[in-house]
Amino acid sequence: MRRPIIAGNWKMQCTTGEAVLLARELVERLLSGVEPEVVIAPPFTALVAVKEAIAGSAVALSAQNLHWEPKGAFTGEISAEMIVDTGCTHVIVGHSERRQLFGETDASVNRKVIAALAAGLTPIVCVGETLEEREAGATREVVLGQIDGALAGLDAEASAQLVLAYEPVWAIGTGLTASPEQAQEVHGWIRARLAQTAGPAVAEGMRILYGGSVKPSNVSELMQQPDLDGALVGGASLKADSFEQIVRFERMG
Ligand code: PEP
Repeated sequence: MRRPIIAGNWKMQCTTGEAVLLARELVERLLSGVEPEVVIAPPFTALVAVKEAIAGSAVALSAQNLHWEPKGAFTGEISAEMIVDTGCTHVIVGHSERRQLFGETDASVNRKVIAALAAGLTPIVCVGETLEEREAGATREVVLGQIDGALAGLDAEASAQLVLAYEPVWAIGTGLTASPEQAQEVHGWIRARLAQTAGPAVAEGMRILYGGSVKPSNVSELMQQPDLDGALVGGASLKADSFEQIVRFERMG
């Protein structure tokens, strides 16, 4: 049985003070009776303060991006070691906003995954098709190409350390959600591909999160699907009450 993960991507929101308040409220709300692993990804500037705010709780800390080099003349970039130094255990890699707005490619995502793993971070690797790609019938090819690209060169042991997130670009921040069946179809393709490339054990153990306008009202239905193992949540992770409701999704059926 795969333990679900609910991860909140706070994006470029929250001053340090706002982030600490939100983190404290979450910790209080999530003190007990929580089944999933809970991860929050505040902006870089708030990581150290949020780490202190969640100390002693079961909430884990993630960065939203990293650079693959350990150090050097890379103005504005942050290395995996620096992220570990803030107390993070996770890092989001290849979010569609980074692919679309900041030119990330499958090759750069792969370098980041390798750097994150080498530093002991758990990469949460995001993949997903645009609306045009879906409408052109290219979803499977695009998503599996991104999976292959992200995992290139990793052996089964390294692949097993990852968390994947399927986030259709057309569903991120738009209020549009993939139907449970649409999401399940893609998650099933991803798991089948992993079984071929990394082996059945890695495929079976891999947590594949869904992301794209997940809210308290749709999370339980999505999580019913056999290959959905949690959620990566943007907008609804910025309010403690809605994030708590998502974390406490009901297992139906
Ligand atoms: C995201 O940013 O990863 C995301 C899924 O955002 P939202 O939940 O706002 O669609």
